[in-house]
Amino acid sequence: MTTTQPDVAPNGQAQSFLSRDVHHLFIDGQRFPAASGETLTTTNPSTGEVLARFAAGGPSDVDRAVLAARNAFNGPWSTWTPYERQALITRIAQVLDEKFEELIQIEAMDMGAPLTRLRNSKPALMKMLSFFASQATSISGETLMNGIPGNVTTMTLKAPVGVIGGIIPWNGPLNSQFWIIGAVLASGCTAVLKPASEASLSVLRVAEILLEAGTPAGVVNVVTGSGSSAGHALAAHPDVDRIAFTGSTDTGRRIIEASTVNIKKLQLELGGKSADIICADADLDKAVPGATMGVFANSGQICFAGTRVLVQRPIVEEFTKRLLQFMDTLRVGNSLDDNATMGPVISKNQLDSVLSYIDIGRNEGAELLRGGQRLGGDFENGYFMQPSVFGGVTNEMRIAREEIFGPVLSIMPFDDVDEAIAIANDSEYGLGGAVWSENLSTALRVVHGVHTGTMWVNCYGYIDPLVGFSGTKLSGYGSKGTAAHMDNYLYTKSVYLQL
Ligand code: NAP
Ligand code: MG
Repeated sequence: MTTTQPDVAPNGQAQSFLSRDVHHLFIDGQRFPAASGETLTTTNPSTGEVLARFAAGGPSDVDRAVLAARNAFNGPWSTWTPYERQALITRIAQVLDEKFEELIQIEAMDMGAPLTRLRNSKPALMKMLSFFASQATSISGETLMNGIPGNVTTMTLKAPVGVIGGIIPWNGPLNSQFWIIGAVLASGCTAVLKPASEASLSVLRVAEILLEAGTPAGVVNVVTGSGSSAGHALAAHPDVDRIAFTGSTDTGRRIIEASTVNIKKLQLELGGKSADIICADADLDKAVPGATMGVFANSGQICFAGTRVLVQRPIVEEFTKRLLQFMDTLRVGNSLDDNATMGPVISKNQLDSVLSYIDIGRNEGAELLRGGQRLGGDFENGYFMQPSVFGGVTNEMRIAREEIFGPVLSIMPFDDVDEAIAIANDSEYGLGGAVWSENLSTALRVVHGVHTGTMWVNCYGYIDPLVGFSGTKLSGYGSKGTAAHMDNYLYTKSVYLQL
């Protein structure tokens, strides 16, 4: 690992957005302070400085936003044809394309991902918008046979459910909000979004851009504020039809409880502790960078990070040597520095929590092979952590069982593939996972054997909306991508038509 520049300034457009005194709520196409008048601050994790102040929305603000979303759902938006909604999504993609540099500067400063990573995420965003544009004109029911006497025609119709509550995490809101916005626009629903307090700004800026691109006022509203106040109010709101949530399993449980008020259907993408299985016959030229970046990308703050790196015993030494060499190419630095490939973690709390797992791992008997410290010197005010590796980890250790959500990789030796599958499955979670092997039968045995929502073979982390990804066990339910994604925003109406 090397470090790059400690301090860099944002571009003019991002600066003009960031220089607002307070970032207000965005309801019915207009900006409003929170009813309470209260505000919260968000920090730039590269510098530890306050970046911006935003409205601390609460239950009455959520009421107001839900009313706006309900009125928009029942208003002229309900008469838009699929072609018109498709054209809107295409227009939004064009405007986002033009404003992408401004957006990634805001995102980099708010949540710490390096510009290099964010720039590389543009094709994924554009692909997502193309996918949802195509979904707008692909919603279909079925005509069905029936056993009813007489001339009765039967069919199913799909209809938009209404108001979606979207609760968004901090680890990549610029892109991840479009899993919700895209489906809302494609289906004809409306939304109230509650971004994470640590990274709300790109969601607020995108809401303005959606309006500029022609989205009717009230179709997408944003209420910032704390999870326990604004987030809870949204999950518990009787006039919100569904919740799309990405975040921790604990918060997912709270949302399930709150949603019982009107039996909301939920789309929940939760935590993970994914196993990345490196077989002795793997091509290490690919497996080493793949498995390393499967953990350290986004400073380890990715739900499907392959943090349990299971390595077949004969190659543990070679793999470890190459992994540590590859880590020398990581460049940790300020998120606005074009040379940085790894930024800080999101907050002081997160940094302390990740550092506490370094102590936990050591006390459990794992061997710290690299890293384990906060960066000092020019970086001491930011929340930077050395990318860290533990060797000799066993699956009983807390560092192998609990989601750390930081740049910490555990190497766990195994003897045969059955043992690797058993270790992979000995987890409460089931989100991602991978196998690296030059033998297709071995790879497929692992693919079939591991209980997880997504498996990669000889690669890590590809997500394509046409293919989708989802979780099982404590990682949640409700797919992202494919037509199954759209089903979360639609309900099915059975029609019996007697002629
Ligand atoms: P989090 O604490 O669960 O927060 C996620 C969102 O929920 C934030 O907007 C938060 O608001 C809100 N929230 C908190 N308490 C709430 C409540 N009682 N009711 C309603 N909303 C509430 O998760 P995080 O720390 O931001 O994100 C990290 C976690 O998300 C990790 O566990 C990670 O694995 C998971 N994640 C999963 C995926 C996936 O696709 N499976 C993707 C990314 C992240 P505040 O910010 O205001 O607290
Ligand atoms: Mg921030």
